[in-house]
Amino acid sequence: MPRNSFYTKKLAKGCQLCQKGAKLVLLITGLCMSKCFYCPLSEKKRDRDVIYANEMLVKNYEDVINEAELIEAEGTGITGGDPIIVVERVENVIKILKDYFGENHHIHLYTSTLDYSKINRIEESGLDEIRFHPPVEIWSKIERTDFRKLIDRVNIDKGIEIPLIPHLKNETLHLLKNVDKYGIDFINLNELEFSITNLNTLDSFGYVAKNDISSAVKGSEEMAYEIKNIDLDTPIHYCSSSFKDAIQLRKRIERRAKNTAKIYELITEDGTLLKGIIIARREKLKEIKEEFEIDENMISWNEEKKRIETSPFIIEEIAEYLPYKCYIVEEYPTADKLEVERTPLN
Ligand code: SF4
Repeated sequence: MPRNSFYTKKLAKGCQLCQKGAKLVLLITGLCMSKCFYCPLSEKKRDRDVIYANEMLVKNYEDVINEAELIEAEGTGITGGDPIIVVERVENVIKILKDYFGENHHIHLYTSTLDYSKINRIEESGLDEIRFHPPVEIWSKIERTDFRKLIDRVNIDKGIEIPLIPHLKNETLHLLKNVDKYGIDFINLNELEFSITNLNTLDSFGYVAKNDISSAVKGSEEMAYEIKNIDLDTPIHYCSSSFKDAIQLRKRIERRAKNTAKIYELITEDGTLLKGIIIARREKLKEIKEEFEIDENMISWNEEKKRIETSPFIIEEIAEYLPYKCYIVEEYPTADKLEVERTPLN
């Protein structure tokens, strides 16, 4: 485990699977009533009733199953927005996932809603674990809310999950010391991160990035270590921003690369894909294939990106003879095929 993430006792099953990159991240809606000032949701998700399975925009439940299969998911984390806003959709998707992958497919859900009747519906549909994200406004008066009563009524694994916000240290400590007495199973603490959408707000609080290569907020991690030193009975799991990127995401994309790479694509050590591309019209595919005697399955037309694709080794051999722009590209094996790098060859 990287130096800057830690857990104080045995990790909850949901977290163990996240660490292996074995959990499908299912954003079930971008809608949320909480309006947290630090909300990191991107423009394409925030306040939009959209569904994303990892990076893929979902059109139907089959898409969810397909994406879960591509990363060989052993579980699913249902997130948002606030999933409870679309409680019926959540009930359906839990049933579908459990029917397809079996009871052992571990499902956790993250919510900022503290409404027992809705939570109970989801619990009954087969949810395994719930992570509460109480709104910031109640952190310093949590004992005066019904949160404890709610916790008493929930029978599945339950915990809280919050970001570490340096100027809210007192409120955070108040919350944690109180919920520590409620009999919850875990406290998940996340390093606060800059995103495109919260940049201006976090900036207005005077926050800066921890270093040049990190989107994490300076001071957030220090808070995690201070909290580790106070005497809480509840297991704490701190997840740093670099851990999420370097380990969880990387493991997940490695799993997806293994299942989606075409025969001519090369999987790098980072789990990304390398391929050769030719910027030419579809009709040229046959011509190029014949002229250079390229095997049928070593070259193809990419309809989505409107280009010819082949192996990085083949393109290196033939680029100088082609009157079209040729590149080696490195892409994530994710549904959005995000390009990491493009190297021109001619
Ligand atoms: S609860 Fe989560 S999704 Fe909703 S506003 Fe807060 S951070 Fe964003």
